[in-house]
Amino acid sequence: MDRDHILLTPGPLTTSLRTKLAMLKDWGSWDADFIAQTARVRRALLDIVDGHDTHTVVPLQGSGTFSVEAAVATVVPRDGHVLVLDNGAYCKRAARLTQLMGRRATVVPYAEEQPVSPAGLEAQLNADASITHVVLIHCETGTGVLNPLAEVAALCDRHGKGLIIDAMSSFGALPIDARATRFDALVAASGKCLEGVPGMGFVFLRKAVLEGCAGNSQSLAMDLHDQWVYMEKTGQWRFTPPTHVLVALASAIDQFVEEGGRPARLARYEDNCRTLVDGMARLGFKPFLRPEIQAPIIVTFHAPAHPAYEFKRFYDAAKARGFILYPGKLTQVETFRVGCIGAIGRNEMNQAVNAVADTLREMGIPSGAPAP
Ligand SMILES: *Cc1c(COP(=O)(O)O)cnc(C)c1O
Repeated sequence: MDRDHILLTPGPLTTSLRTKLAMLKDWGSWDADFIAQTARVRRALLDIVDGHDTHTVVPLQGSGTFSVEAAVATVVPRDGHVLVLDNGAYCKRAARLTQLMGRRATVVPYAEEQPVSPAGLEAQLNADASITHVVLIHCETGTGVLNPLAEVAALCDRHGKGLIIDAMSSFGALPIDARATRFDALVAASGKCLEGVPGMGFVFLRKAVLEGCAGNSQSLAMDLHDQWVYMEKTGQWRFTPPTHVLVALASAIDQFVEEGGRPARLARYEDNCRTLVDGMARLGFKPFLRPEIQAPIIVTFHAPAHPAYEFKRFYDAAKARGFILYPGKLTQVETFRVGCIGAIGRNEMNQAVNAVADTLREMGIPSGAPAP
């Protein structure tokens, strides 16, 4: 069967045929046509966060993590002190890359089934005046929990702290308004809710902050200030750009706008999420998170209690039916994850639930119910 699988993962995602077709052309990186594509994508990205007055956006080659690392390296001075609010795997990754770049990092742990706490943050900021920056993961993709961005941003503003947001899995779907939410850096990538292909990240940077960031980065390739200065001057990327990824993203953004922009994207993902959770509930499956804190991006389900369950077999059987699931990322409880994002809708989610039902039957598991 040479039909593509439906990717129920948090990236790479299922993309539209039009996005894929946009990649069937070669581009010269110095050429005016490609320079115009880069400029168009940067403008369209700033539109999505209403950031034209205060922010600029700097694209960077690589997966999303490269851009998180670049944002920290560029924005945080070498003697800065970063507070990382940690309720999951991507928070831990942000903390680790901060430490590896030689920045002092304090990690505040929270339970994985809870959002991080603004009250806890306020206590930390009051207790330690040496903190210069806060790192927040907007949607912690490890579980799918939505963290309180507006409250955290307001606290950082009130206390005069820089805020770096990893909005990788939320940008383009959940509301983020640079006029209402104050941040120094916000990181996202091509292959998430904008439904492009993976290969580049981009960082929204407050212009007034970025102007003072020369020399912060200890890495040449990760220096967003340098990338910005060069791009403003020449319109070009400093080093070989991911040309096909960029033009695919340009096409994906056109389709995003045609669909109705961010609100329409969110509405489709909410419908996907509801269809998935309701359908899986009929099979006995239980989500790991309470519905109030579940972002409509990726859902973590408890593994079935039945002794015949084994993730690898479950995964293979679902794959044979055309659907790619995602393993769990929790250490304490056995789970698996199902993404709600990508160029898919209610039909695909219903078909995915049917594939899971069929898979359970094949494995001889009468119900997806977890251990009580
Ligand atoms: C996808 C994602 C990233 C980036 O992961 P890569 O594997 O580097 O693309 C970072 N943070 C969050 C919250 C994500 O969902």
